[in-house]
Amino acid sequence: MSHSSASRVQEYIGDPVSDAAPVEREKLEEIFQDIQEDLRFDHELNGCLNCGICTATCPAAHYYDFSPREIVQLLWTENLEGIYDAMQEKIWSCAQCYTCAARCPFGNSPGGLVMLMRETAIKHGMESAKSVLRPFSRVMLKLISTGNQLSPDMINPEGFADWGPNISKVEAPLTTLRKAIPLPTLHTTKTAWEVNLKTSIELYTIWEETGVLDSLETIDENLFDVICDIMDEKRDDYDDWLDEQDD
Ligand code: SF4
Ligand code: SF4
Repeated sequence: MSHSSASRVQEYIGDPVSDAAPVEREKLEEIFQDIQEDLRFDHELNGCLNCGICTATCPAAHYYDFSPREIVQLLWTENLEGIYDAMQEKIWSCAQCYTCAARCPFGNSPGGLVMLMRETAIKHGMESAKSVLRPFSRVMLKLISTGNQLSPDMINPEGFADWGPNISKVEAPLTTLRKAIPLPTLHTTKTAWEVNLKTSIELYTIWEETGVLDSLETIDENLFDVICDIMDEKRDDYDDWLDEQDD
């Protein structure tokens, strides 16, 4: 333990009646440092009057136990325990609409700060991040394998049961309708549009270079393995295509 002079309360954060392991102060400092060292941090946080204008205009604050004013105050006062605590649930309530940023008299962006905290939660493989992002695995898989996020054939009663009876309104002869669109790249139903191999390979490179794939590995190792296999396959296909052009 590096902070031997600190009391138990200062060294750990944790619910004393919960089975969850307490978090060491060193870890809390590391998490805050990751948030603070991001290049965007100083741009998003310039001070805070604690005026509450951000919370008064925040749509998420109307429906959830969430307050952008509280988030900004936690970061401004470097409340490490509070920051960690907010990262377990509250930060995932923000709708990223940035109304707060447009209204803050100090030029802060509470929504931007929430984004930094979310990225840090992902980097540290927090359970809150894993559970929020789990439903998006299907989207990620679709995106990496086809270059598109949503395809017309996904909008059906099975895929969108939560739409209730309204889903019947989008039932239609998709193939015929898509063929009526003037752009040939949109004549597909399995993808929103056709993405060529070169573009897909470039997308993979961007994901690798920007750390997106590292984040994915932290959050969902199985999905990461599947996606790596797909990327390898597509890269092989692209190499084969290039070889064919040389012949
Ligand atoms: S972040 Fe801005 S709007 Fe929100 S409480 Fe602080 S000064 Fe007020
Ligand atoms: S960006 Fe987030 S915190 Fe800011 S107003 Fe929108 S929902 Fe609220």
